[in-house]
Amino acid sequence: MKLTVIGQWGGYPKAGEASTGYLLEANGFKLLIDCGSGVLSHLQHHIEATELDAVLLSHYHPDHVADIGVLQHALLIQYFLGKNEGTLPVYAHREDQQGFNSLTYKDLMTAHEYTEDSSLSVGPFTVTFVKSKHPVPCYGMRIEADGKSLFYTADSAFREEFISFGQDADVLLCECNFYGDMDASNAGHMTSLDAGKLAQKTGARNLILTHLPHFGDLEQLITEAKTVYSGHVSLAKKDMVVEI
Ligand SMILES: [Zn+2]
Ligand SMILES: [Zn+2]
Repeated sequence: MKLTVIGQWGGYPKAGEASTGYLLEANGFKLLIDCGSGVLSHLQHHIEATELDAVLLSHYHPDHVADIGVLQHALLIQYFLGKNEGTLPVYAHREDQQGFNSLTYKDLMTAHEYTEDSSLSVGPFTVTFVKSKHPVPCYGMRIEADGKSLFYTADSAFREEFISFGQDADVLLCECNFYGDMDASNAGHMTSLDAGKLAQKTGARNLILTHLPHFGDLEQLITEAKTVYSGHVSLAKKDMVVEI
């Protein structure tokens, strides 16, 4: 699998960058995971919007879905130009019915429901889900292909359930919206220490901190995570590519 960071900011994007979005590729299949503000613009540094094979959404907060509407416009305009055919499937939960309904657009985009109990086959990927702890319904996801695995926590406070769910993932893409000395749990997010603990307890081979805060010295997040996790830690950065 090849993971490309399109956007890594929590809440809103920094100037010229994007909030949450990741492109995951395997065997030529192109899956977009979350589609926050700025994602459509930055995605086009890598592929055309019409090259996407599927989209997978964790929840309906704007920093994860803000660019769904403009992605629909891109598909429509490219359709009129004769450069887009077929329907783009978008996989999401249905616990926000209005949000779910908004994903289906003409014949160009179709919403498909996943649930916590479901195992989804999307192209070469097998995806399973774990409920997160967040102010709105949200799901973390484990994505496997070619014997490799990625655990993406989405937005969540630390949950014990994540430990068994994420066991031995090759890459833990962990939200880290707060610093170690802060209380992230009430906000439904994790600190650098939570991320490090999760990486240590799951035995992850590689920890990537993402959904980053807009304050403080981000390098400090790495230093703090390393106090409880002995593996490799890095910060998600725009255009960063990770071979899994
Ligand atoms: Zn978020
Ligand atoms: Zn959120």
